[in-house]
Amino acid sequence: MTNEIWMERMTWQEIQQAMDDGYDTVILIAGSIEQHGPALPLGTDTYLGYAMADGIARKIGKTLVAPVIRPGLSEHHMHFKGTLTLTKETFKAVVRDVINSLVRHGFKRIAVTYSHGGNEAALDEVLPELARTYPDVDILTLIDEDAFSDPVQDIIRRDGITSEQMGVHAGEMETSMLLAWDETLVRKDKFEQGFMGDFGHDNPQMVRALSEGLHTVTNNGILGDSRKASKSRGQDYNDAVCGFAAKHFKKVTG
Ligand SMILES: [Zn+2]
Repeated sequence: MTNEIWMERMTWQEIQQAMDDGYDTVILIAGSIEQHGPALPLGTDTYLGYAMADGIARKIGKTLVAPVIRPGLSEHHMHFKGTLTLTKETFKAVVRDVINSLVRHGFKRIAVTYSHGGNEAALDEVLPELARTYPDVDILTLIDEDAFSDPVQDIIRRDGITSEQMGVHAGEMETSMLLAWDETLVRKDKFEQGFMGDFGHDNPQMVRALSEGLHTVTNNGILGDSRKASKSRGQDYNDAVCGFAAKHFKKVTG
């Protein structure tokens, strides 16, 4: 077969052939359609979801990429035009139905994670339930909360990027990663600084940003600073995140 591993770009016969050849694992990432500041499009988490899923699948081997789930849970971005959000119950129902479909086709391992942090809590609720529903299938996820920040520390130290610049939303990291994936999607004349405070969930400003909306701390929608973004560093980030993720998927217990 070809080297195509994205299910949505394959025919049913190619998927059948891949499964006959031992492709019994699928990676499923939950992204978003939400504002990403002035330089990045609303589909950023979706594109980065494909970049991560593709990188992780090729590192694990014999693994197919399911369509990235979106919209996700983006209520905290609704102040900004165009953002779409599901309700939590709808999101969980979509995850359930997609995984049910994959199980019915006979996949034995389904590795689930997110490219948008807002989806994390709902996945944490629905995945143990699915692990109980399908005891013969391994439902895997990244248990480690720092799956996305730990692996990139060496890169930011090497290049003199601060954690505040790297950011947690539409900052240097996501901008670099999207440049690496498809730079035609990036408005390179619109790089800006956004909120540069403490991004930790202990900071009352961040608590407010996540409950009432990001506009309470950032006018342009950025948490971080995209001005130092670089395409080659974006590739390094993606390699680091995918390498870490490929090694750290753990079975969800019901
Ligand atoms: Zn994002």
